[in-house]
Amino acid sequence: MTAALDILLTRSLHSRLSDLDLDNIPFGKHYTDHMLEVDFLDGQWRQPVIKPYQHLSLAPSMAALHYGQAIFEGIKAYVDADGNPRIFRPLDNFYRFNISAERMQMPVVPEDIFMEGMKQLVSLDRAWIPNKKDHSLYIRPFMFSTDELIGVRPSDNYKFLIILSPSGPYYSAPMRIHVEEQYIRAAPGGVGYAKAAGNYGAAMYATAQARKHGYDQVLWMDGLERKYVQECGTMNVFFIIGDTAITPSLEQGTILNGVTRQSVITLLQEAHLRVEERPLSLDEIVEAYDQGTLKEVFGTGTAATISLIKELACRERELTFEVEKWQYAPAIKQKLMDIRAGRIPDLHGWMMPVG
Ligand SMILES: *Cc1c(COP(=O)(O)O)cnc(C)c1O
Repeated sequence: MTAALDILLTRSLHSRLSDLDLDNIPFGKHYTDHMLEVDFLDGQWRQPVIKPYQHLSLAPSMAALHYGQAIFEGIKAYVDADGNPRIFRPLDNFYRFNISAERMQMPVVPEDIFMEGMKQLVSLDRAWIPNKKDHSLYIRPFMFSTDELIGVRPSDNYKFLIILSPSGPYYSAPMRIHVEEQYIRAAPGGVGYAKAAGNYGAAMYATAQARKHGYDQVLWMDGLERKYVQECGTMNVFFIIGDTAITPSLEQGTILNGVTRQSVITLLQEAHLRVEERPLSLDEIVEAYDQGTLKEVFGTGTAATISLIKELACRERELTFEVEKWQYAPAIKQKLMDIRAGRIPDLHGWMMPVG
């Protein structure tokens, strides 16, 4: 039980909510009336403030713009059947945020600032949570360095913010995936496991090349041998081979420890599938495909929940799948969405009430 965090609140005088058709919104384009802002100055977290969503005024010399000390999280809030706001597993995102912070030599954010700040912000802007099937409020906590100094060293000063974006269903048609055997996303010893801003900029070139050739995303291979599959865009990946679901393991520190990944592992086990977290080679995948035992391939992440993969292009071949016939991925996706919307009981305590 955390004591109520003292947050200085300045309410917006005019809500922009009425300007928006909440039933018809794209992903990540609109923001709610308020935001949370907390500065880290001289070694201390200062007064948390919730104030009207507004631009920031930043120095051109601000360190984050030059050397990339910047991290973020992605979380979703929903309303349950009674209209109460609830957030999906935010504590897991809080822990991961500070793992990213540590790796980027940034200060850890105290739990009350992250969690209470988020809850109070979501509660204040609860009218912005779309109350429609598969809609949600996307929560974006982030932090960046703010020293005004063009010198390569960790900043002394940082800014932590949370902004909220009402979002429609993340429509994801079954994807065509290019297996990327040239460019890499991460390597052992690197920052692949951190939700660090630079990881995403670094991935854009290869992804754009794949898009040019008609693919939706790339499937990254390991950075040492280009032998083991890693993850896909901003999604972890699962392969169902025979009666086992296999997802790449985390111990190399090259992939994100996805909250959706963890949740899907739990739900697959409940569906009586064996789940293995281990290195999975492209050879094994192609071999299983040729033997007819590779049954389902899908990505998992907060934005789309589960995205089915209908084609994997690798080694001058196209591995194709009839996603309409799949048994597990669509069912798990439905179940996860039902838990989040409160349509079925939340047996694992994944939904945190906002109060
Ligand atoms: C955020 C992210 C994921 C998915 O994590 P979730 O917690 O499930 O949203 C997977 N891979 C990368 C690279 C990511 O940035």
